[in-house]
Amino acid sequence: MPTTSPKSQHVLVLNCGSSSLKFAIIDANDGHEIISGLAERLGADAPSIKYKYNGAKTVIELGANQAHAEAINTLVTLIKDHNLDEYLTAVGHRVVHGGEHFTKSVLIDDAVIEGITKASSLAPLHGHANLLGISSAQNSFTGLPQVAVFDTAFHQTMDEVAYLYALPYKLYTDYGVRRYGMHGTSHYYVAGQTAKLLNQPIEQSNFISAHLGNGCSVCAIKDGKSVDTSMGLTPLAGIVMGTRSGDIDPGLFNFLTTQLDYNAKQIDNLLNQESGLLGISELSNDCRTIEEAAVAGHKKAQLALDIFCYRLAKQIAAYMVPLQRLDALIFTGGIGENSDIIRANVIKQLGYLGLNCDEQANLNARFGTQGIISTSDKIPKAVVMPTNEEWVIALDAANIVKEL
Ligand code: ADP
Repeated sequence: MPTTSPKSQHVLVLNCGSSSLKFAIIDANDGHEIISGLAERLGADAPSIKYKYNGAKTVIELGANQAHAEAINTLVTLIKDHNLDEYLTAVGHRVVHGGEHFTKSVLIDDAVIEGITKASSLAPLHGHANLLGISSAQNSFTGLPQVAVFDTAFHQTMDEVAYLYALPYKLYTDYGVRRYGMHGTSHYYVAGQTAKLLNQPIEQSNFISAHLGNGCSVCAIKDGKSVDTSMGLTPLAGIVMGTRSGDIDPGLFNFLTTQLDYNAKQIDNLLNQESGLLGISELSNDCRTIEEAAVAGHKKAQLALDIFCYRLAKQIAAYMVPLQRLDALIFTGGIGENSDIIRANVIKQLGYLGLNCDEQANLNARFGTQGIISTSDKIPKAVVMPTNEEWVIALDAANIVKEL
């Protein structure tokens, strides 16, 4: 039964990684986080849950090797102990890969589980964790509707010209090998918020959104819809990330296997865990650490930053092809929302598009502040827009539940 009580809009948002679980109870009415936390090192030696509630931070140690199911059980107890279960209306799951089947958020039933299972062959690590999260939540929160929100869904508006690889066509038709793109929930959210900030209809807005966190991706948004994005079949493609290489010459596989005796797992590990900012700097995957080291004269840290910015600027410039007209370049994610250094560097390289950077506005836009960081009369604008994927998940779940 739909009700109008604002309290009935509380949604438990779950984001399951292979060894972690981020969670929050969000009020879908205003995005307010009632409780939030992170379970880490799941399935390993010393798993724990850290959470924030009423301004206080608490750590719960889990038993050795305890994994997603135990973490969710502990979460249920936690929620009940704080009497937070009473107003919960749904559980919203962030699902990394929805394949071609899922173009929007859906209520989870057996057919949906089957669809997610099928799509998870395209991203086995993430898919497996997402499925585990869903089944654990179904067991622990019996009776609560469960909703899946897909990272790939926003990009399903891409044309085949943008999403097909120049590979034998059968790989697409028989196995679904194509570009899907990720971070869709974030690109969607920041595009909508930027349209509001600029006071223009999203349906007539052309944006390029750069989500720069540990994973990084760029999205070309034409008339409010995703028309291209830098991640591909998996989240490894595109621009340089914390530990991921982004695009490389596929010929590298042959070199690594024939000359250096790498196997598939080692190559996967090299490209996903040992590359990116970490690989070049030989110091860290953390942008803050890299920036501090670069300022202190660490040459490889500076090189890592330069490569990161150059590749990002090149990707943004490439998206002028589908867009032709740009209203705003949007920065979001931990790096995009905080690094004035990276924003200034990238904008400088894109000056020929008419982008510029107001030094003071750029310095001011940090720690969750949104704002225009270009000089105010110029188009395209450069915008910093904090993302809030959890709120989108909560809203989608609340809206789907309202229709039941
Ligand atoms: P995730 O993709 O895991 O959600 P985040 O969006 O939180 O990651 O982004 C993490 C990245 O943001 C890290 O590289 C971190 O160093 C960077 N970051 C956070 N704050 C700053 C800052 N003040 N300056 C530069 N980089 C920052």
